[in-house]
Amino acid sequence: MNCLNCGHKLSEKFCSYCGQKADVKRLDWKSLSEEILHFFTHIEKSFFRTAWLLTIRPGMVIHEYLDGKRKKYHKPIGFLLIWITIFTLLFHFADKLSPIKETTNGSVFSDAANYIINKYRSIVELIILPFLAINAWLIVAKPKLNYVEVLAAFFYFSSLLFMLLTLQLVFALIARVNFHTASFDIIIVSIYSIWLIYAGVSFYKKYEIKYLALRIFISLFTGIAIYFGIAHLLGILVRIWHL
Ligand SMILES: [Zn+2]
Repeated sequence: MNCLNCGHKLSEKFCSYCGQKADVKRLDWKSLSEEILHFFTHIEKSFFRTAWLLTIRPGMVIHEYLDGKRKKYHKPIGFLLIWITIFTLLFHFADKLSPIKETTNGSVFSDAANYIINKYRSIVELIILPFLAINAWLIVAKPKLNYVEVLAAFFYFSSLLFMLLTLQLVFALIARVNFHTASFDIIIVSIYSIWLIYAGVSFYKKYEIKYLALRIFISLFTGIAIYFGIAHLLGILVRIWHL
């Protein structure tokens, strides 16, 4: 018997070449309901486990993922994209319901940065992410880790930011408060920074990096400068295009 997916000769319950089940039946109502069930149980298993463990033990999750536990956790890029999708959908929903459309109470960001962050938050984060990873790689991780490994860590780091932003929106929707405010920015930036230090220390400490605390401290400040700088620059560029 040959695998129906790739044609490879079958010797086990699963194809040793592509991983498909040897026993594939015709599609019917039973297989449809099994697929739906599988989708939700699979989501529950890897997605929610990754979300929860990343929040409480980020160092362990990223370290285990890099070390080879690639099935246990949701892959970093897919994980981030799901959270960005959830956040973006909710943001448009919350923005429509919010009584105040524009930031009126100020923001921690510069005017230009605030303008673009409010409009295209997820794109801004995705553009800045590789630069933050370069920053952390050069200051903290090099030569113990390669750039792509640090980049993967930053996809997970960024996911937590979108989890926090999603929570913030849920809270704003329930409490019916305007979330376009400086106090909301400050709360999110503070919680995220504290978590990032925790995540950074617990992640990097397994690699025996010299002067780790000092390196993380420096990379946090240069990282914040890079973040605000690029966001400001993008805001200016978009404003020029719009004029
Ligand atoms: Zn196959």
